[in-house]
Amino acid sequence: MRLTFLGVRGSTPAPGADFVRYGGHTSCVALSAGPTSRPVLALDAGTGIRELTGLLAPDAFAGSILVSHLHWDHVQGIPFFAAGDRDGARAAMVVPAELGLSGRDLVARFMSPPSFPILPEGLKGAWTFEAREAEPFRAEGFDVLPFDVAHKGGRCFGYRVSSAGASIAYVPDHAPAAGVSDAALEAMRDVDALIHDAQFLDHERSRAVDYGHATIDEAVALAERVGARSLVLFHHGPHRTDAALDRIAETFGSDSVLVATQGMVLDLGCVPPDRGATTRPRVTPA
Ligand SMILES: [Zn+2]
Ligand SMILES: [Zn+2]
Repeated sequence: MRLTFLGVRGSTPAPGADFVRYGGHTSCVALSAGPTSRPVLALDAGTGIRELTGLLAPDAFAGSILVSHLHWDHVQGIPFFAAGDRDGARAAMVVPAELGLSGRDLVARFMSPPSFPILPEGLKGAWTFEAREAEPFRAEGFDVLPFDVAHKGGRCFGYRVSSAGASIAYVPDHAPAAGVSDAALEAMRDVDALIHDAQFLDHERSRAVDYGHATIDEAVALAERVGARSLVLFHHGPHRTDAALDRIAETFGSDSVLVATQGMVLDLGCVPPDRGATTRPRVTPA
C-alpha cells in the first residue's frame, strides 16, 4: 500500500513563504496498491486533491473518494479536481450518512448556489455520491471500515483501510477528550499507520476542546493505546509555520512518529525483510 500525502493542513489552506516545506493544502491522502500502481482512493478532498491531477497525468481519475466529514477543509477541492472533473473520469464519493439526506443532497449543501456556482451533477465524468453508515465495505480493492469519532459540527468518520496485509487508520479530525468508543478503538487497533489530528499543542488544550480537535499528546497516547505501529501527525494548524513544525518534529518525532509533509510518500507492507521489520513504514521525504 502506498500513501501519498497531498494536503496536510486543517481548517484553511496556508500559503506563504513560512509554509513551503510542510505545505499549505488542506487534507487529502492518495492511496494506491503499491509503488507501481496508480492512486485509486482519495481520503478526503481538501484543496490537496488538486495535486492528484498531477500524479495521475495524463489520465483521468477512476476511483473512490472517502470523505471523513463535510467541513470545508475536507471537501473544498472537489470542484477543482481536474482529473475527476473531466470526461472519462469516474469518482465514487462516500460521505457519512446524516440528517436523513442522500449523499447527493449532503454534497449539495456545500456545493450549490449561492455558496458555489455549480451543483454536484455539474461535475463532468461519472460521479456518484453515497451516504454510508459505519459498516465495512470494499472500495477499489481495499477493505474499508468507517467508524464514528467525536468532532464538532456534524457526523465525522475515521476510516480503517486495509489491503494485502497492510492497514492504516485515517482520523484527521478527532476530539479524543470527548471519549473514544470501543468500536473506534477496535477499528484503529494494530494499524501500521495511524494518521491522526494533530492540530493543537498541550498548552492550547482549551482551544482543542472548543474546536473538537486533538492535541499532539492525545494523538501520541491514542496511538500507544491502540498499538499503532506508527503515528503520522496530520491536519496541522494553518498558523503552524515550517519552523514551528520543525520544533514539533524535534519534540515528538521518531522512527515511529512522523510529522506529515505535503508530498511525503509512505510505503506499507512492502519493505524487504533485509531492510528490517516488515511492519515499519518506509518514508520517502517530500
Ligand atoms: Zn478539518
Ligand atoms: Zn472538521
